[in-house]
Amino acid sequence: MDSAHRTTLTRFLIEERRHHPHAVGDFNNLLLNVALVCKRIARLAAHGALAGGSEQAGAVNVQGEVQQALDVLANDIFLRAHEVGGQVAGMVSEELEAPYPIARHQRGRYLLVFDPLDGSSNVDVNLSVGSIFSVLRAPDDACDGELERNLHGNPEDELPVEAFLQPGMQQVAAGYAIYGPSTMLVLTVGTGTHGFTLCPNLGEFMLTHPHMQIAPDTQEFAINASNSRFWERPIKRYVDECLAGRSGEREKDFNMRWIASLVAEAHRILMRGGVFMYPRDQRDPARPGRLRLLYEANPIAFVVEQAGGRASTGLMPVLQVPPTSIHQRVPLIFGSANEVARLERYHAEPADSHHATPLFAERSLFRAQA
Ligand code: MN
Ligand code: MN
Repeated sequence: MDSAHRTTLTRFLIEERRHHPHAVGDFNNLLLNVALVCKRIARLAAHGALAGGSEQAGAVNVQGEVQQALDVLANDIFLRAHEVGGQVAGMVSEELEAPYPIARHQRGRYLLVFDPLDGSSNVDVNLSVGSIFSVLRAPDDACDGELERNLHGNPEDELPVEAFLQPGMQQVAAGYAIYGPSTMLVLTVGTGTHGFTLCPNLGEFMLTHPHMQIAPDTQEFAINASNSRFWERPIKRYVDECLAGRSGEREKDFNMRWIASLVAEAHRILMRGGVFMYPRDQRDPARPGRLRLLYEANPIAFVVEQAGGRASTGLMPVLQVPPTSIHQRVPLIFGSANEVARLERYHAEPADSHHATPLFAERSLFRAQA
């Protein structure tokens, strides 16, 4: 339990700053603010049913106030902590239809995009939940100083939605907090992925997992198999090959995992490898995946790639997807680099490829006989 010799998040950020002599202090303050938010949410989540779980959302308490679900409380904590700090020019949250407006005189240089409580249905069953965040640069004309110089600007202008529609490769920081048996903050500022554990005695995040690395190979995959009848062929082929185990194409046995919480899945993969898939499927062509690009896929992809892993839609790197709306959904595949590369290969192969799965081999055999 000795934390005395460990690096705190604050010290880590100060040391990171030395690599970026032109950086302004706002950036570190923003990340320390995010860390404080995560500590608050961790405390709230730790109260479990004592605080009134999400099943009581909408109920009226003794003071006549409407009790709020943890997602809504977590969202409020994020908004309140950043609306007056002067570091952000705007915020996008899973919980809000439109970007959250920041008073013009308080606008900073960054945009903060977040999922305040990921996997919130896990709260009621006391399983891990988390928060996910992504930091982008605000467009030059969005922050305070530039606006004052722009005499034609309307001081009541809200930041346009387009400001947030930046591909993930433009993120300057991203990460998540996981509220599990211990609370951890996993963070990248583009110099590797680093894990901090919240010391319950000091209330400080301490660097416990510097330079996290995802092993390039794995024998573990995670997918919601109840959707298998909707999967497209490359996913079906990949999973069939994993299930065939030692006697199949892959010549090794695989394990399957599914927690149904993106943060928990990502964290397990960062700690011991694996591949996660929430692919596009054939249910609804208008819905090209389930997870949201800006505040789920992009931050997780940044963290994963900075740890030597890979993140893809199957057809292209997640970090290159041009966003078209703030709540856009994408197919998401990430984890051990060689497995994700294999899935990308399967997506790239033409449908009548010779590299067929046992399933499709049967079909071609059938066709040959017909
Ligand atoms: Mn989520
Ligand atoms: Mn959420």
